[in-house]
Amino acid sequence: MSKSAAKATPANHSELNKENFNLKPIPPEGIFSFACHPGVSCYNRCCHQIDVILTPLDILNIKTKLNLRSDEFLTEYTDLQSLSDSGVPMVKLRMRKNSNGACIFLAGDKGCSIYENRPHVCRSYPLGVAALDPREAGHLTEGQSSEARFMIQEEMCMGHREPKTWTLKEWMKDQGTFGMEQDNKPWLEIVAKLKAMKIAEAQQREVSLFMMVSYDLDTFWKFVFESSFQERFAVDQKVADSMRSDQVELLKFGMEWLQFALFGEGPIQPKQQ
Ligand code: SF4
Ligand code: SF4
Repeated sequence: MSKSAAKATPANHSELNKENFNLKPIPPEGIFSFACHPGVSCYNRCCHQIDVILTPLDILNIKTKLNLRSDEFLTEYTDLQSLSDSGVPMVKLRMRKNSNGACIFLAGDKGCSIYENRPHVCRSYPLGVAALDPREAGHLTEGQSSEARFMIQEEMCMGHREPKTWTLKEWMKDQGTFGMEQDNKPWLEIVAKLKAMKIAEAQQREVSLFMMVSYDLDTFWKFVFESSFQERFAVDQKVADSMRSDQVELLKFGMEWLQFALFGEGPIQPKQQ
């Protein structure tokens, strides 16, 4: 099913140029029709000249699949971009300079070469999620979600004319995005807070810490295990053991630590001297 990418991204909804898209709200129980397969006339068109912003989990999944260190993956396959309205640094997949700007992972007619590990945004398309500003979430009444889902309807995408119908749940299950959405949440919350703060270039320390934990887990591993980190922070031995060998656990811990390092919040606090 859909192998495609989108211009909407989990962390970058506000960057959508709404003039170029028809965004149709999808209620939680709504049904929509869509299908993407090699038979559609637009097959692979959406994997060209697009912004595919990667979450930390995307980076971890793909670099593990390619058996690369974080820095190797970032150098070879990605570009860095700061969100225009806030300065928050984002990593996006590199688009080729030739081949009509095809995604670096597009393998011609064979489609996506990392299909099983494709980024969250590629799985979700054509659905997008808009997270409400955290400052507004406090005003929600019971039963209201802090997220709004919508369908991105681009003229070139013929998938919307296919008869196959889905509920939101069916689509998410089919594309394997249920767990990913949950796992991406702590990072998206950090990004939303940084956006609200309009992190400035002057805040280099904060920017560097955010980038290390979000995008370069191999360096964060060294920071945790080969510096005085554990003298300064009490880390449960079981947690330390599991994140020493499991970068998914390291990423979870990293998100909690970022809450402290950037905002002075969260469960991780420095040891009392
Ligand atoms: S990662 Fe795969 S699905 Fe996503 S844009 Fe690149 S080729 Fe397309
Ligand atoms: S149907 Fe839409 S998602 Fe599928 S290849 Fe065409 S443009 Fe991409």
